[in-house]
Amino acid sequence: MKLKNPKTAQFTARVDASRGDLISLTQELIQIPTLNPPGENYLLICEYLARRLTGRGFEVEMIRAYGTPGDSDKYPRWNVVARREGARTGECVHFNSHIDVVDVGQGWSFDPFGGELSDGKIYGRGSCDMKGGLATSIIAVEAFLDTWPDYSGAIEISGTADEETGGFGGVAYLAEKGYFSPERVQHVIIPEPLNKDRVCLGHRGVWWAEIETHGHIAHGCMPFLGDCAVRHMGAVMEEMEKSLFPALAEKRTEMPIVPEGAKQSTLNINSVHGGQKEQADDFDGLSSAVVPDSCKMIIDRRFLLEENIDDVRQEMVDVLDKVQSEREKFRYDITDINEVLPTMTDKNAPVVTSVSRAIEDVLGKPPEYVVSPGTYDQKHIDRIGKLKNCIAYGPGILDLAHQPDEYIAVQDMIDSAKVMGLALAELLTDWGK
Ligand SMILES: [Zn+2]
Repeated sequence: MKLKNPKTAQFTARVDASRGDLISLTQELIQIPTLNPPGENYLLICEYLARRLTGRGFEVEMIRAYGTPGDSDKYPRWNVVARREGARTGECVHFNSHIDVVDVGQGWSFDPFGGELSDGKIYGRGSCDMKGGLATSIIAVEAFLDTWPDYSGAIEISGTADEETGGFGGVAYLAEKGYFSPERVQHVIIPEPLNKDRVCLGHRGVWWAEIETHGHIAHGCMPFLGDCAVRHMGAVMEEMEKSLFPALAEKRTEMPIVPEGAKQSTLNINSVHGGQKEQADDFDGLSSAVVPDSCKMIIDRRFLLEENIDDVRQEMVDVLDKVQSEREKFRYDITDINEVLPTMTDKNAPVVTSVSRAIEDVLGKPPEYVVSPGTYDQKHIDRIGKLKNCIAYGPGILDLAHQPDEYIAVQDMIDSAKVMGLALAELLTDWGK
């Protein structure tokens, strides 16, 4: 077993002393409402972060993701990337947090943008997902700088746009511009709310597709003169129930995915639309009588590291071909919408081992390794940036994300800040070598 860093006690005391600062930092981040969509106040929050980090010796860049989805002069996609060089050359550790939050929704008993502290918890939209994690990483880095000012390499902190809507104006854009290249950055920690004692190594894969069945339009009083595309889609759904869903439930993975139910392949029928559009709310007339000539279904297939994207696609095509062989006049199209390959960082990657050891030091127990059922910005770092040493680690309870009365516990942030700082000490100081 490795000896404790002799400066550990000094460092953890420094984090404990910053409790008040951590609380006000988290509150002030929550009080900037960065709702996405549409993407409000990105510039304001990036400027806020830039001011804070410039004060600690960071070089700060403000980067607008021009031309990405949603970017406009009214709702510009701003990102901030701050970098602080150490005393000697070495590796770079990057903390990446998204700055956007989802819609507030109903059912709040706290002001969603108040950042109220009550019973050791800070309430507000984005408190847990993930302004608490962002604040935690800043406090961790500042305490690290005070304790180990002569570190090697570099530390980066970024606040990025649009994670909640796919990350194209955020991490994907920065990865395309080289901000997440392995030459520039060697280790990435994304402080998403996975719980302070868990290390998230990656995520399942995603395949979205649109399936369209075709028919023939006719008067609804003589449907035999047409061909109903919705009935064709019904046959597709019946075949999916019969063969596809049971087959997916059989596929199990070695990936440590949580929750348990996501340890298999899954498929969600995201939507089905056939025939005429639903009537607008301000129109109370009747529909006209026609046989639908088109029906469209969007599917959201989540797949495992053990599966291949081509096989995943072929399984659906097999279902459609089977229906075609059994049904007269059945015609279909299938169109890919989006795909993300599954990814899982090696458990022996230095960013994993250093965070794991720090969790043991701070919490007195080994970490739990998990894989996320859904994707997050790691997908862009992996695919566009080609950077493999990436984990999600941060305070907060994932189940609270996107819920009313979302909160983050202050003590969880303190504990996570200690973990982050001790991991930095292992990665960037001589003691870790
Ligand atoms: Zn998040």
